[in-house]
Amino acid sequence: MDLLATRPSNPAPAAPEYPWPNGTQCALFPAFDVDAESVWLGADPQNAKRLVTMSYGGYEARVGIPKILEVLRRHEVKATFFVTGWSIDAHPAACEAILADGHEIAHHGYLHLRPDTADEATRIEEMDRAIDAMKRVLGISPTGYRAPWGETCVEQLELLKSRGIRYSSSFRDDIRPYRHVLPSGAGPIEIPVNYSFDDWSYGLTHRTSPRAMFGREDVLSIWRDEFDQTREWGGVTTMVMHPQVTGRPMRIRILDQFLTHVRQFDDVWIATGRDIAAHYERCERTNQES
Ligand SMILES: [Zn+2]
Repeated sequence: MDLLATRPSNPAPAAPEYPWPNGTQCALFPAFDVDAESVWLGADPQNAKRLVTMSYGGYEARVGIPKILEVLRRHEVKATFFVTGWSIDAHPAACEAILADGHEIAHHGYLHLRPDTADEATRIEEMDRAIDAMKRVLGISPTGYRAPWGETCVEQLELLKSRGIRYSSSFRDDIRPYRHVLPSGAGPIEIPVNYSFDDWSYGLTHRTSPRAMFGREDVLSIWRDEFDQTREWGGVTTMVMHPQVTGRPMRIRILDQFLTHVRQFDDVWIATGRDIAAHYERCERTNQES
């Protein structure tokens, strides 16, 4: 592969302007990444011995997920939870509670390892171990995938395709869903992420990765502006929240008030990744027939 070849890094053309369903004008894709302890463990296996570091992730099953489910229930919102296979094996009850409320659980690796830096055998193991955990513990198979650490590579997109995963939600290069173009032909649908909705950047600080935390009004004003403009453009606002961040007492108010803001409009389709991907597939079929 010529790494310095001059060409667009993504060969897929810009997203088609398919209409949103039922006369809606835009979409909101509420999505959470359930990393739990695996994000700390995947970063450094020695963290297994560092119980305070691990407890950042442990907060998710104990407090974060139940509190988030409560907010979603109150706003009558269905969301997608990208859960690592490790989290499914370690916290099956929390995952069953997510499913019992009608939310989608999708693929987020097993030990939250980066696909782009892993060797082939590790990438395949991360993929298949998580698919196995989903089937064995929850009796489901994944429709969607989000790359751990927000990074991916063409080999990983091919792997998603070979495992029948229909959508990815990792790229940051569009405001509407589109279909990947791979060396093997058509790839999965991409529901691109709005990285301003990654709560980790505003609300989590740790000894090894210290950063300033932003208050509610700062984050809310960014989220409102991103959403309002995406709505005017007719795009999808894809969120990237973590129960170990947004599930914290002060952060959950940001989610609550943001959903109140979105709910005041009656032209927003609030949907899971699975529903957005299925809608895209329907539009694509209609388009091919006409
Ligand atoms: Zn993650």
